[in-house]
Amino acid sequence: MTTKRVDSAIDDLAAGIQQRTLGRTGLRVKMLGVGGISSQDVFEKALEYGLNFFDVHGYEAGHGLDGRIRFKNAMRKTGTKREDVILTARCNSFTREGALAQIDESLELLETDYLDLYGPYNVTQVAGRVEKTMAPGGALEGLEEARAAGKIRFIGGVSGHHHQELVQLLKTNAFDAVMIAVNSFDQDVVAATLPVARELNIGTIAMKPFAKGLFTGSATAPLRYVFAQDITVAIPGMYTIAELEKNIRTASEFSGCSEEDMALLNREVDKITRAEGKFICRQCGYCVPVCPQGIDIKQIFYMERQASRYYSVGWAKKAYAGVEKNAKECAACGACETECPYDLPIREMLRKVHLDLSNPH
Ligand code: SF4
Ligand code: SF4
Repeated sequence: MTTKRVDSAIDDLAAGIQQRTLGRTGLRVKMLGVGGISSQDVFEKALEYGLNFFDVHGYEAGHGLDGRIRFKNAMRKTGTKREDVILTARCNSFTREGALAQIDESLELLETDYLDLYGPYNVTQVAGRVEKTMAPGGALEGLEEARAAGKIRFIGGVSGHHHQELVQLLKTNAFDAVMIAVNSFDQDVVAATLPVARELNIGTIAMKPFAKGLFTGSATAPLRYVFAQDITVAIPGMYTIAELEKNIRTASEFSGCSEEDMALLNREVDKITRAEGKFICRQCGYCVPVCPQGIDIKQIFYMERQASRYYSVGWAKKAYAGVEKNAKECAACGACETECPYDLPIREMLRKVHLDLSNPH
């Protein structure tokens, strides 16, 4: 038996976090879970604090190791029993064979016999993915086979950013849970998707509660906003134990999202929109792997943000001067724009960044 190495006050708070039912799955989960980009340290500590819902999606960049391996290591180190945690993962293949192969890969990497939830990832992004997923020979067929074989318990955690297609998918009744971005920046997605999920008793997993770091004015109000939307579980990605403990405290003390919280969040949305205009990069990174020129689009937009929002113009220009492939290398192929969940005109934005940051004055 592994001894817990936790702050006992936070441990008590974690024990008191509200449990919610994940829609028709009937699974009981603490309303604070852990996102797939989290570090191994965070996975370990969250297990020790008794959080029970983990996204173990393996395709997120960062930390050097596949998220599934980070999580498996954390399970081993803490001596956590498989039955004490609920695991969700997703496939980025939209065919039957691809989905089945990716489920097997996840089971192997995680050293487990089953996943609690499994669904297609970012399915609404590119035209034709929804149709491919649902057609004979599509991913849904593979997921149904995996469920019949006991490799997954529920078909769910289908994720996407385009709410019209997501609603269309939910209405097929094929999915037991949905994963959507829930934050005060994406209120249209929240308003369109959550009522449908609720009506069909589909569990709701809220990703990106902090809008990928866009909110900086309050460390706690964004999470209260998310819990107040009546979602089942929020899964912030966390890099440090301090972030995890702050979120445990917020979840444990949650009693609603106040008028002050909403006023603060709305002010922040206004401020960001004023600084960055209507085209705001959310730092998801989906565009980066598809760029044939190898431009780190996400990083370049991060530099632009430091200049426009935080007035760190000198730092941003210096950083931009050091990038291996700058925005001028863009061949205007448009592949990145197809992948961007927020339909950003990336080519035009890159042109502007280059003008702003390559100017020596
Ligand atoms: S449009 Fe430019 S930045 Fe986007 S994928 Fe093509 S080359 Fe890369
Ligand atoms: S440009 Fe779009 S796809 Fe790329 S990181 Fe930003 S939000 Fe994500």
